[in-house]
Amino acid sequence: MASSRYPNPDRLARPLVQGLHPYVPGEQPKTRGLIKLNTNENPFTPAPGVLKALKEAVDGRLRLYPNPTASRLRSELARFHGVQEAQVIVGNGSDELLALAVRTFVEPALEGNGSPSSAGQPSQVVQYFHPSYSLYPVLAATHGARPHAVPLMEDFDIPHGKDLSRAGWLQKAALSLVTTPNAPSGRGYPTDRLRELVAKQKGVVVLDEAYAEFAEEHAMDLASEMPHVLVSRTFSKAYSLCYLRVGYMIGHPSLIAAMDRMRDSYNVNGMAQVAAEATLKARGHYEKVFKKVRAIRQTTADQLTALGFSVLPSQTNFLFARPPGGHAEAWLLELRKRKILVRWFDAPGIRDRIRITIGSASEMSRFIQVVSLLEPRLHRGAVRKGT
Ligand SMILES: *Cc1c(COP(=O)(O)O)cnc(C)c1O
Repeated sequence: MASSRYPNPDRLARPLVQGLHPYVPGEQPKTRGLIKLNTNENPFTPAPGVLKALKEAVDGRLRLYPNPTASRLRSELARFHGVQEAQVIVGNGSDELLALAVRTFVEPALEGNGSPSSAGQPSQVVQYFHPSYSLYPVLAATHGARPHAVPLMEDFDIPHGKDLSRAGWLQKAALSLVTTPNAPSGRGYPTDRLRELVAKQKGVVVLDEAYAEFAEEHAMDLASEMPHVLVSRTFSKAYSLCYLRVGYMIGHPSLIAAMDRMRDSYNVNGMAQVAAEATLKARGHYEKVFKKVRAIRQTTADQLTALGFSVLPSQTNFLFARPPGGHAEAWLLELRKRKILVRWFDAPGIRDRIRITIGSASEMSRFIQVVSLLEPRLHRGAVRKGT
């Protein structure tokens, strides 16, 4: 292949891009009989009305471009949240909107060689807590912005008052991304605490509420209270629509208009718009789903606790649990051998825990059955790492 007549394709990507480490999503294997508790998907199917609307939309109209601004969906979301349509932007999953926020509000900080320059400017900073959503540092890196991780407290609470600045939190960061409730810990934060945190910020703050529907409270009001706050939501987790990729943000019309300028014209595909609109008409169905998930969450947490796990209180559709003995990676591997997939993060402060998505009642009872069989072996560390 090597021919001097042509440019070397390995050298054609920007230096920044050549050095990037991509985001690592949870596995999506197609093994039969696998119990998938690793990517926080909802075990319950979308409402019948959603499936019907999708089926009815599959016809010759597929040749047409979809509504470029998702205007009907945006107006229904505006009505649902009691805001103006100009306060709503819809994306190809909330991931797209998080990336768009980085590109809209943060200056790249590049030297000629493609690596971020050393002298820090707040206008170049993407700030977030650790641990939180592991996509954030990737979004900062792909943009050539400066990632700034600030440690949460040991119990995953947000540091308070003086502790916050001591931890390194910057009031001037161009963009701060706050996962609330937190992932992967599942911990929820009171709106008053978030209000206090956000009120002092000089840049844009995104409250990433991907799991808000499973929580006791949410902070959507802050999106209308303060002009620098965006609240991010998704149809993936609570509304069982991961496959279609729809998310949205709500905030001040000026922030939304700025992001809209950076948005691709047809960023949300037609099927996704159809499904999301039908979802908003099936509130009753989903309220029942949220209730079921919360009930299974409680049962599973109690059962794990009885088996010696240390389980954090969760405001989400997953549990973050420290197995007895703390051999979390061994648990991941042993569970996988028995066709149960959970998530383990090889990162400081959370290596001794596994994250378990709440599945259906029957999936969770199988999970508990397998855990109780494994517990006597793994607790004593009888299993070598990786066996
Ligand atoms: C799953 C998740 C998202 C992404 O949601 P999509 O709408 O599917 O892109 C965003 N933030 C957090 C914290 C998540 O867990």
